[in-house]
Order: sequence, then C-alpha cells, then structure tokens
Amino acid sequence: MKPQASAPRGPTAESAIVLGEMPGTPDSAADVLIIGGGASGMVAAIRAARLGRRTILVEKSPSLGRKLLASGGQRCNLSNTLDTDQFMERVGREGRFMGPALAELGGPKLREFFHGIGVQTVVLDGFRVWPETRKSATVLAGLMGELERLAVEVVTNCEVQSTVHESTEDGGHFVIRYPLGEFRARQLVIATGGLALPKSGASGGGYAFAESFGHKVTARHPAGVPVVTAEDWPGRCTAHTIGKAHLQVDMKKHAKVARTGDLIFTKSGLRGPVVLDISRELSPLLERYGEVPIVMNLCGGRTQEDWQLLFKEWRTAPVRPVIEWLEEELPLEVAEVICELSDVDPTTLLQKLPGEAKDTLIRTLVKTPLTITGHTGYDGAFVTRGGARLKDVRPETLESKLQPGLYLCGEVLDLDGPCGGFNLQWAFASGYLAGSGLGLAAASEASKKS
Ligand SMILES: Cc1cc2nc3c(=O)[nH]c(=O)nc-3n(C[C@H](O)[C@H](O)[C@H](O)COP(=O)(O)OP(=O)(O)OC[C@H]3O[C@@H](n4cnc5c(N)ncnc54)[C@H](O)[C@@H]3O)c2cc1C
Repeated sequence: MKPQASAPRGPTAESAIVLGEMPGTPDSAADVLIIGGGASGMVAAIRAARLGRRTILVEKSPSLGRKLLASGGQRCNLSNTLDTDQFMERVGREGRFMGPALAELGGPKLREFFHGIGVQTVVLDGFRVWPETRKSATVLAGLMGELERLAVEVVTNCEVQSTVHESTEDGGHFVIRYPLGEFRARQLVIATGGLALPKSGASGGGYAFAESFGHKVTARHPAGVPVVTAEDWPGRCTAHTIGKAHLQVDMKKHAKVARTGDLIFTKSGLRGPVVLDISRELSPLLERYGEVPIVMNLCGGRTQEDWQLLFKEWRTAPVRPVIEWLEEELPLEVAEVICELSDVDPTTLLQKLPGEAKDTLIRTLVKTPLTITGHTGYDGAFVTRGGARLKDVRPETLESKLQPGLYLCGEVLDLDGPCGGFNLQWAFASGYLAGSGLGLAAASEASKKS
C-alpha cells in the first residue's frame, strides 16, 4: 500500500482512526524522524514539535495508536496516582531508570498535559487514571489534534525497513528506508513498541533498528499474560473470581516471586490481575525451566494457625460434613478440589476427621499447589518483558550512548510494569523526555555553531 502523508484532522473520535491523504510525495528531510506512531512516538513528536523541531512521524499501520485504542479494554488506564518512588518500586527491576522521565511527565504532569490538549481525566478508585469519557479514542483524538496543530507530518502505511546513520563533516544524518523511498533527518527516535498484540502493528522490527546502531537487545517474553496449567482442575472452577489470592513460585531459588490480587480460573489455567502481574516473572522462568510450580493461598492469606483455630471452633459446632464448612470460606468447586488434593472425602463429618487428614487439608488450604506450563503468548499479552538494553541509553535524555542523535522510548526499551497504568505512563513520559532531549540537543548544537 502507498504510504500516506497527512496532517491528522481535528480532535474527534473519528479522526482517531481516519487519516486524510496529503498531496505530494512524503519523501523529504526533517529535523526529527520518529518511527512508530504509538503512545510514546506521538508524545515524542508533540514535544519535539513544541520545541520547534520539524518532525516526521512514520507509522506502518493505516492509523496511529492502535494499541492505545485497545488499552484498558478500550477505556485506557493511562496512569495511576502513585508518587514517583512508589511507581518505580512497583515496576521493580530497573524501575529507577524511569526517574528522569517521571520527573518530566509523571502522573500529575501527565494529567495536566492531557488537560492541555482537551482530554479531561478522572480517578474513580483512588488509583487508576482514566480519560473522563472512559474511551481510549478520546485520548488518541486529543493527541492527534495536537499533532495537527503543531503541523507534525504523519505518514501512515509506511513500514520502515532499515535505518542507517551517514556521517558527514557537519555531523551527518539518519536515513530510514521504506519500500518506496526514504526519509532523512539529523535526529531519529525509535518508538516501535514491543511484541504484544501483533494485530496492533507490534512486530519487533525496532529491535533490529536498535541493534543496527550497536545496541544490545535482551531476551523478550510475553508479560501481562494469562497462564496455562498442567492440572485441569482450574477448568472446573471457571465461574469464580478469588479476591486477594496470593501466588508464590514454589522453587527455592525463586521463592521471592510472589504477588497478591484477584484471580480468575480459566478452562486451561489462570488469569486476572494477580496473574497478569506475576506472569512478568513467570515467562522468563518458563523459558528456563519448561514448567514452574507455584502455591496459592486462596483464602485471603489465612495462615495455618488461623485454620487450626477455625477447625477447633467448628469441632464444637453442630455436626456437619467438611465440605459444608469449607464452602463457607471458598467457592464449592474450589473447596472440592482442595479436599481432592488432600485425599480427604468431602462428605466426612468434620468431627470425625483424623488429625493427620485435618493437617494435610490445612496445608493444602494455605498452599494449594499448581504447575504452570505455559502462557497464551503475545496475542494475549499486554506488554513485552525485555528489549533494548537500558545500559546503552542515557536515562536523563533517552539518547543512545552509542549513536549520538538517536533516541529510544516506550516499550521498545527493556522496561515493563504491572497492570494499572504503569506501561502507558512510561510510554508517554519516555516519549516526552526523548522529545525534550531532541530539542535540547538541537539548541546546544545551534549555540555551538553561532
Ligand atoms: C490489550 C492491551 C491493553 C493494554 N492496556 C493498558 C492499560 O490500560 N494501561 C497501561 O498502562 N498499559 C496498557 N497496555 C500496554 C500499553 O498499551 C503499551 O505498553 C504502550 O501502548 C506502548 O506504547 P509504545 O508507543 O511504546 O508502543 P506501541 O503503542 O506498540 O507503538 C509502536 C508503534 O510502532 C509501529 N511500528 C513498529 N514497527 C514499525 C516499523 N518498522 N515502521 C513503522 N512503524 C512501526 C507499530 O505499528 C506501533 O503503532 C495494554 C496493552 C495491550 C496489548
């Protein structure tokens, strides 16, 4: 398909997916080229253009922001209310790399940024930030309206195939090539995202671009993804959501991998917020070990001692089968599975349950075992774990340490967060910081020349 160069139309939901065609060829030179019209690329383009850089934003899909549109069940959980330190701590591994980007456009500033482009935001549960309309299309329309106002040239249906830097006496320029031509600019941003949700345009091409400039790319895994289990009993419990379930990897070396949150059983395994969260850690372990044993506490973290006391109380209460008591604490199907795993007949009267059987039952209640054997892949994932190595990038500007003038932002970098607005917040903030870096670098180059 022929690439379309266009200025996006006004900030309406429709304009979020329909781009007009601009006459003439899009082949041209600019100050800045940005590859990838997702959350990070659009914000990088806005910031660079606000700082006076002539910017071309190149997107391979027919429209911008496809993953953004799908985010948060098309409602777009665009950030959260954590302060910077809490935010980075929740991200965990490498979270501190985000510091300068969050200082530039952390939660409160991001909300101001959106208000400034006509997108009001709300917090309904004290934590998640949403557009007031609860529609991703509003967020995308706001961004596209601003791109148009700033006369950023947006080129869609244009898959970049290679990137090079050509050195010249005056510092050189980047050339990016697509099937029908090429673009040139002194600065380049790789904002190509990760591998999750391939139908949004995610293909991982950006990793090769980064590698072509000497960047290392770490192993990538689907994260934020439902998991598959060896056991088939979760399929018997699909009607239920377990609140505050605690999941922990049952391997001595990885016992610190644990999360608490809502759990949903599926026909073939587990999903729900706690699973999406812990899957960030499980995917690499699965690749390494093939399967990962976990234990689950499905009773709000109740301990062995808590259960011993409860059983003691039940023994003095009217005579009833074990299953009837357990059903007061757990969904029936889950209680049945726990009896089965403990080799306890659920119809046994609690008062007649031998001490050893009671102890086994309690152990299973506190740590219900399950074996994770896989996940549903990038189609079902919301983020990619792994990417362009952080060591090769300056956190304060997101400029490459290996190739001056090259910037990387968003999910293409080796950073991912849990559910709850972490990944979009990072995409927006890192895009903004890269845009600032582009402007600053240009200003300092200009002052050197004058
Ligand atoms: C279903 C789903 C729901 C989600 N919900 C949330 C949520 O509610 N909150 C949250 O914080 N996060 C959420 N996320 C994660 C979040 O959407 C992403 O982390 C974020 O959008 C990444 O932004 P990005 O700009 O780095 O990449 P992307 O948005 O993926 O943008 C990269 C763009 O680059 C383009 N591209 C790639 N290669 C090329 C090439 N060679 N040439 C030209 N263009 C190219 C792609 O087509 C794409 O448009 C969700 C993700 C998914 C899949």
